Amino acid sequence: MSDVDFDVIVIGGGVAGLACAYLLAQQEREVLLIERGDEPGSKNLSGGVFYSRVMEEIFPNFIEEAPYERVITRNCLSFLNKESFVNIDYWDQRLADPVNAVTVLRSKFDPWLAEQCEEAGVTLMPGFKVDGLLREGDQVTGVVSGEDELRANVVVAADGVNSFISQEAGIRAKEPNENLAIGVKSVIRIGEEKVRDRFNVSGNEGAAYAIVGDATQGLPGGGFMYTNRDSVSIGIVANVPALEYGNYVVTDVHDHFLEHPAIAPFLEGGELIEYGCHMIAEGGAKMQHDLVRPGLVVIGDAAGFTLNTGFTVRGMDLAAGSAQAAAAAIREALDAGDFSQDRLESYVAEYEKTFVGADMATYARAPEFLESPEMYGKLGEMLADVFHGVYNLDLTPRKHILPTAWDAVKGSGMKLGRLARIAYQAVRAL
Ligand SMILES: Cc1cc2nc3c(=O)[nH]c(=O)nc-3n(C[C@H](O)[C@H](O)[C@H](O)COP(=O)(O)OP(=O)(O)OC[C@H]3O[C@@H](n4cnc5c(N)ncnc54)[C@H](O)[C@@H]3O)c2cc1C
Repeated sequence: MSDVDFDVIVIGGGVAGLACAYLLAQQEREVLLIERGDEPGSKNLSGGVFYSRVMEEIFPNFIEEAPYERVITRNCLSFLNKESFVNIDYWDQRLADPVNAVTVLRSKFDPWLAEQCEEAGVTLMPGFKVDGLLREGDQVTGVVSGEDELRANVVVAADGVNSFISQEAGIRAKEPNENLAIGVKSVIRIGEEKVRDRFNVSGNEGAAYAIVGDATQGLPGGGFMYTNRDSVSIGIVANVPALEYGNYVVTDVHDHFLEHPAIAPFLEGGELIEYGCHMIAEGGAKMQHDLVRPGLVVIGDAAGFTLNTGFTVRGMDLAAGSAQAAAAAIREALDAGDFSQDRLESYVAEYEKTFVGADMATYARAPEFLESPEMYGKLGEMLADVFHGVYNLDLTPRKHILPTAWDAVKGSGMKLGRLARIAYQAVRAL
């Protein structure tokens, strides 16, 4: 097409859209990025742990210049019960060099990405919502935003978990609730010294807690608690049908978590500086659909690229990885002057070769495993009962660890067969 305004129009200024726009502008392409928020990041929300190696491939200055908060070297997998808190606490300095994961606050981080884009030559259009797609036959040829019609050879839908653009393109219907969760997050400033003391970290190192059980009042989902430079990002993610079924108000579940006697001391005396809710896609491989139409590719959350394994919640790194794959495919399409579906399908082949495709396949069974209701109650209580049996010296004769554990299993009411089944599912899913 000769009468285009831009080579590429990217819809959405989150990690996916900004990374894709940056990579294409680096290749001297004319790129427009349209973001409905007043500035990139203003509408975005993540728990905040970014597995950042992919960002070093995209932005060579990432570690030196990006406004991240702390380098995560302590990971805690935690079971929270009403009266107890069992932690598997893993600290490893190897996670700092090379940097494996950092915490970010999207309100600071996305504007930095936008700045990199502008410096690379991307035209940014914040404060505009894309209302629909322009088409010639079945070829997507641009976007409509208010009164404006803007044309491009390729449109990239990076418009997040609800992706009205892929719905309009007929790629998928509205995501069913069973694949969705709601996240509620607070950022609480406690000061740099308290972050270090309370989370047992030094320098710019940080801690990330993934917490199941009473964090969500036993609902499928989990709590998270991540350290920033002088604040804590804390919140919950809860499955939408479970919330509806139990008539829970998601913000009350969040408050219940923050007030838990094992959690509240981490936050004591702190000041609330950010608060927000956001949908999160949880279906994993189940949510995968076509990602290409003639003239259109879909990336990031819009493409369903999120992974929750219980240990880690990932979406930002997959957003960046899918942006890389899309940018490579779009570059080839622009070189060939061919924007057909067949040509753009090379995006799919490209991402399947990367960590994005590999990890989505590896953890395809994770959502099913995380549906086990015992994960959010009985398992954590059983673990606490084992430790209670070990540490509670109540003057009755001591038992060896195996009979103590057996007592805990019997006390939980769980059948040994069910426990073995969960262990088997865990091994297969994770
Ligand atoms: C509570 C919670 C905790 C999470 N924790 C983590 C975590 O710790 N680590 C992690 O890696 N991931 C986490 N995630 C997932 C992560 O936030 C997402 O995977 C990631 O933000 C996806 O990036 P994206 O660019 O695809 O989408 P988004 O960041 O959602 O960006 C989409 C952008 O498109 C814009 N937009 C939408 N529609 C239009 C339109 N019509 N016109 C113009 N602009 C539009 C939006 O304003 C937005 O800026 C979490 C998510 C939630 C909700």
